[in-house]
Amino acid sequence: MHDDLSAILIDRDSIAERVESLATELERDLRVKVESGDLIVLPVMTGSVVFMADLMRHLPIRFRIEPVRARSYVGPTTVANQPVQLEGVDEESLRGSHVLIVDDVLDSGRTLSQLRSVAEAAGALSVAACVLLRKETAPDTPCEYVGFDIPDEFVVGYGLDYNGLYRNVPDIAVLRPEVLTEGPAGA
Ligand code: 5GP
Ligand code: MG
Repeated sequence: MHDDLSAILIDRDSIAERVESLATELERDLRVKVESGDLIVLPVMTGSVVFMADLMRHLPIRFRIEPVRARSYVGPTTVANQPVQLEGVDEESLRGSHVLIVDDVLDSGRTLSQLRSVAEAAGALSVAACVLLRKETAPDTPCEYVGFDIPDEFVVGYGLDYNGLYRNVPDIAVLRPEVLTEGPAGA
């Protein structure tokens, strides 16, 4: 295990198993939808890159991918009460399409609720959201598909970063507390 990690919260095998079962659920629901309109998947970059890559290979249906960016975090703490900045949303292409938002973590819920509103306002036929992790901090934010419910801890790995690092860790892990205060070793 990487020296900066203190514990594995969800190991790679459990992630792989859950991603496959999520995809089965998604395929069943989305197959019906694609009969009435195109499907556009919006992965929220960069945290959802690994999740998206694994999920989509278990989804044998027609869809386009339009990555979007959302900025709200600086290190492990949220920028309180500031709206999330969304970039890369092509509202024109969402009109008349079914939209699936794919994100890594549902924390305060601001990213998902803002993106959902933007897609609805753009005239999407339907909007659904799929997150790998949901923290107990966001009990009221609607989200149709959830991989794992987790406690309110800052996690890295499987695409999730701390200051741009640790995205390549194959498991979902917790950092040693010193790393969050002193910065990553060797960085
Ligand atoms: P929300 O808008 O729901 O507060 O924030 C969601 C975003 O915050 C996620 O897409 C993710 O980028 C970031 N985030 C929230 N919790 C964590 C965490 O524990 N670890 C990492 N690496 N990012 C997180
Ligand atoms: Mg994110």
